[in-house]
Amino acid sequence: MDISDLVIIGGGASGFMTAITAAEHGVKNIKILESSSKLLEKVRISGGGRCNVTNASWIPHELIDNYPRGGKKLLESLSRFATGDVFAWFEEHGLKLKIENDLRVFPVSDSSIDVVNCLENTARKLGVEINTNKYVNKILRNEHDFFQVFFSEEEYISSRRILIATGGHPSGYKLASSLGHKIVKPVPSLFTLTSKDKRLKECAGVSLRNIRLKIFINKKVFENHGDLLITHWGFSGPGILKLSAVAARDLYIAKYKCNLLIRWANLNHESLLKKINELRELRGKSSLLNSRPIPSLTKRLWIFLLNKIGIDKDKKWSELLASEKKDMIKILLEDEYLISAKGPFGEEFVRSGGVTLDEVNFRSMESFICPGLYFSGEVLNVDGITGGFNFQHCWTSGWLAGRSISQANIIS
Ligand SMILES: Cc1cc2nc3c(=O)[nH]c(=O)nc-3n(C[C@H](O)[C@H](O)[C@H](O)COP(=O)(O)OP(=O)(O)OC[C@H]3O[C@@H](n4cnc5c(N)ncnc54)[C@H](O)[C@@H]3O)c2cc1C
Repeated sequence: MDISDLVIIGGGASGFMTAITAAEHGVKNIKILESSSKLLEKVRISGGGRCNVTNASWIPHELIDNYPRGGKKLLESLSRFATGDVFAWFEEHGLKLKIENDLRVFPVSDSSIDVVNCLENTARKLGVEINTNKYVNKILRNEHDFFQVFFSEEEYISSRRILIATGGHPSGYKLASSLGHKIVKPVPSLFTLTSKDKRLKECAGVSLRNIRLKIFINKKVFENHGDLLITHWGFSGPGILKLSAVAARDLYIAKYKCNLLIRWANLNHESLLKKINELRELRGKSSLLNSRPIPSLTKRLWIFLLNKIGIDKDKKWSELLASEKKDMIKILLEDEYLISAKGPFGEEFVRSGGVTLDEVNFRSMESFICPGLYFSGEVLNVDGITGGFNFQHCWTSGWLAGRSISQANIIS
């Protein structure tokens, strides 16, 4: 019979972190079972090939604001292994990291492959047995409290301790529920939005920094701010991704039909009015096109907005009518778009939903329902906005699981 001290289901970020931590704390005979032929694939493609490893928000109480779901529970684990610990962990394991101006943390090399190599090489050096093309389809528990982890009809590995680290894959939820866990229905998070306004195409490629955004779904309002990118089908960029995460569950229920309000001007009503009045007085002979009230608006976007409210771009500032001034202020502060769907490519980055948090001890990552069963990473009902927060949760939960499995091993 094939017996192991720890079987890890899933060869992603959180599974590897658990394997390495457990091995470094004395657990022998660890096996990773990965269903695909590739290890750490999401790490490789993450952050546009650069892997946004974590975020330099050092204070756990502030960090948890970046998790629309699970932040409160995460606080229990972050007090044991937080962002600073992750930074130190990677540096101690030979991967130099850097902090960018917006606090996102990347490898100095700007290459996600270095993160993959760091994790894979460390695990191999520690003697972790890594198996690819092993899809776990069933887990049973025998009368001696051994789990039997099946990866074909007849083949299984027995172990007293197992970790489910299957990310957002449906099979992981099935395995967890077969062992008694409730699953919060997974829905997409971190996605782009499709607008009904086909004229937007004219502005495809235009990007703006730090734009305030609101989503209205029935009577609920969700707000956020961040960089915005106009695409061929609608809206993208970190600001939209963040907003989609905050509103993920309500958007899912509303079938992604909502109203998006964009505040193009980072000014209040009074300051914007003053600016427009100044233009009328001081630049009266200049055309609306040549003197933009908000210089960060590109010409293409400014023409598009003027067209939308029916004002001729070649009109002189001195000729602007009072009603036109009102429309201009309205569109710069509250430009509204009907959203009809998520982005067209099913390109969401994470899923909101997963194993119910109350059923897991967030200090050890062990199940309250099924002792010996542990969880880490995205399989849990925790998800963050963009900025390195999702990997941070993987490292924290993975490290804690590895640590507590090693302690449980010493006791038994
Ligand atoms: C394009 C993209 C870019 C991203 N960029 C970032 C970023 O820069 N920063 C950030 O913080 N987050 C980012 N994320 C999110 C981040 O990648 C995930 O939160 C993280 O990878 C989750 O890690 P995990 O170990 O929980 O699961 P995963 O990485 O999904 O790993 C789970 C593994 O389990 C395997 N598996 C599933 N079911 C079974 C089974 N039954 N048997 C055996 N194996 C199984 C899967 O094949 C997979 O390899 C990005 C996500 C995407 C899609």
